[in-house]
Amino acid sequence: MAPKFSPQRLPHTPDGPYGTPGIAACTADLSKVYGTGDTGVVALDRVSISFGEGEFTAIMGPSGSGKSTLMHCVAGLDSASSGSVRIGSTELSGLDDRQLTELRRDRIGFIFQAFNLLPTLTALENITLAMDIAGRKVDGAWLDRVVAMVGLSERLGHRPAQLSGGQQQRVAIARALVSRPAIVFGDEPTGSLDSRAGAEVLGFLRDSVRELGRTVVMVTHDPVAAGYADRVVFLTDGRLVDEMIQPTADRVLDRMKNFDVRGHTN
Ligand code: ADP
Repeated sequence: MAPKFSPQRLPHTPDGPYGTPGIAACTADLSKVYGTGDTGVVALDRVSISFGEGEFTAIMGPSGSGKSTLMHCVAGLDSASSGSVRIGSTELSGLDDRQLTELRRDRIGFIFQAFNLLPTLTALENITLAMDIAGRKVDGAWLDRVVAMVGLSERLGHRPAQLSGGQQQRVAIARALVSRPAIVFGDEPTGSLDSRAGAEVLGFLRDSVRELGRTVVMVTHDPVAAGYADRVVFLTDGRLVDEMIQPTADRVLDRMKNFDVRGHTN
């Protein structure tokens, strides 16, 4: 069945040598099939979506609907079977492994459910590690802004074990932002936090969009988390089926109730 919904709010197809102004990343007819033949699984089915600069998008949908696959393909962690993915003006399918690694390092930030901090390093060392390894100079003024925004100024010398879960995720947010990435991806970033720490982390993610002008795309199954975003897109069976602008947790929850098990609107 063809999807009923096609988000028109932002252009899907980049044009011009520098990509479409205002678009941090986009896909056009992105499909991903795992395996081949009868055993092949269509994880993404012709998904066309744009992520605007300075926008906070939540990706929602039932388990198995393709959320992680979409994020991994846009972030250059997984390759598409067909269709296009661009970060700015860069078409990912044209990149070799080394170029993809550089793109992820220089232009993309990641925040995972597990904080993935190195236990022997201080908070500050964790934040700057990737840039230090790459031999890139850390912009001190930007680092100060990022650290102040996530409220870590007093804790930069602490090791992860000396920090709460929420504080560790704040270090991970600062680590994702320090290189001024074009786009930051969060994979259930509050999944291992209690609701208070989760609310703090979501507030900081929103601040990174509002105050620091970053672009954030977050995969979540939690309507409360999605309520912090500027828009929510809904996936079902690998297809983009709906979009909600200026969501609230209640509206997201209502919308989810209106999807049956296959996710189609009742
Ligand atoms: P979600 O994140 O919404 O739970 P996923 O993107 O993880 O969904 O998965 C989408 C579909 O693709 C599911 O049917 C899943 O089983 C399948 N899938 C995901 N990764 C793989 C893989 N590496 N090999 C085979 N099938 C996969």
